[in-house]
Amino acid sequence: MMFPIFLVNSVFLLSQLSTDQQQFEILKNQLEQYNFPVIIKLDPRRGSFYGQLNVKTREIWLNPIVFDLQIANPTLIHEAVHAAQVCKGKGKITLLDLDIAPITYAQPFFMNYTDIHRKDLEREAYAVQTQPNRFELVLSLLKKYCK
Ligand SMILES: [Zn+2]
Repeated sequence: MMFPIFLVNSVFLLSQLSTDQQQFEILKNQLEQYNFPVIIKLDPRRGSFYGQLNVKTREIWLNPIVFDLQIANPTLIHEAVHAAQVCKGKGKITLLDLDIAPITYAQPFFMNYTDIHRKDLEREAYAVQTQPNRFELVLSLLKKYCK
């Protein structure tokens, strides 16, 4: 199962530059504690992607290009939402039913999914990814659902 993302928020990048790397490490460590190994590697067999979560193996794959593009954090946050969805469904990816909506300009990134379940899962990941408190929010979601 593939979860490509293409969203860059330049305002976020400017304001968070100093803590970007720390936040990435904290979230990566947290995911690994919950048994989601984060693999930073280009694997052509997996097709074109920035980040993807394998629901079965719980591996989170990040394309190393996300560091060059300065989107490593939003990419990892997006995949971490999917990780929380997997935890909640006890291995089966499930909606968290959050009371937040993604910003309007993120809509093209999930509206073209024809599978309605998949569309809702993506909408939720983009909703978290586009919140001002995305980092704290995703950590609290992991803590809540991944024991
Ligand atoms: Zn996704």
